[in-house]
Amino acid sequence: VLKYSPFVVSFRKHYPWVQLSGHAGNFQAGEDGRILKRFCQCEQQSLEQLMGDPLRPFVPAYYGMVQRDGQAFNQMEDLLADFEGPSIMDCKMGSRTYLEEELVKARERPRPRKDMYEKMVAVDPAAPTPEEHAQGAVTKPRYMQWRETMSSTSTLGFRIEGIKKADGTCNTNFKKTQALEQVTKVLEDFVDRDHGILRKYVTRLEELREALENSPFFKTHEVVGSSLLFVHDHTGLAKVWMIDFGKTVALPDHQTLSHRLPWTEGNREDGYLWGLDNLIHLLQGLTQS
Ligand code: ATP
Ligand code: MG
Ligand code: MG
Repeated sequence: VLKYSPFVVSFRKHYPWVQLSGHAGNFQAGEDGRILKRFCQCEQQSLEQLMGDPLRPFVPAYYGMVQRDGQAFNQMEDLLADFEGPSIMDCKMGSRTYLEEELVKARERPRPRKDMYEKMVAVDPAAPTPEEHAQGAVTKPRYMQWRETMSSTSTLGFRIEGIKKADGTCNTNFKKTQALEQVTKVLEDFVDRDHGILRKYVTRLEELREALENSPFFKTHEVVGSSLLFVHDHTGLAKVWMIDFGKTVALPDHQTLSHRLPWTEGNREDGYLWGLDNLIHLLQGLTQS
């Protein structure tokens, strides 16, 4: 049997690549079917370990660090490459999107922050206390903790960061999308009520949950600010992957997490599986509606 021919060259069509969150300059096109993300050592370590973990099928393949124009990048699989005009959604997982160590650091020098006050007022003018209004500033820990209560992060253990649909519509403003009914509507619209796509997403998420429950990596890491990237297209292809390991950190020796227990400061629980349970439950509900 002829396994391959040296004359067959596959040309991948060019397509507009979509980035739903993060700084605009963080990504570059890589070689065929790969992308470059601004280097972060924490992310490198996680991706390297994940290549030898049961979670491997659920994360982009990692191809190591590369230099370009004097800058370092992590090279990884472009998850959009196999889709035709895909619809894409970034769901940030967990009941907390900052690390415990960030909270501790922010508390050390609680300087009044005008920029964070302004961001807070832009979302909810009634959020600052009278004292904070008078100062025109809030502290960083205050801002960090307030922000989680605005979205579904604190109530459902995940929040939608951004959606770009095949029809070109795009929304990255879900900062106040919190109520279960709101989130449900957004998910329903994302899949255009297509039950076939929904069932594929549910199956894939159930497989992911099983892999997470069996993953030595997951058991021993605090996974914060990581997202699930949902991608489907008109051919009926629908998949989900874990992305963004910039705030995924190893626990001290012998410590493990349930990823389901509520967070109290010091226990480092991230609520990842609690959020995934909720997300699966919600999508299952949509397949029956
Ligand atoms: P932030 O921490 O603000 O979320 P970031 O700079 O860490 O941003 P990511 O969250 O990793 O960046 O990715 C940002 C966006 O880029 C994602 O929402 C997704 O749209 C796209 N993206 C990231 N990784 C991939 C990938 N491997 N394949 C395809 N798209 C990707
Ligand atoms: Mg992200
Ligand atoms: Mg990130």
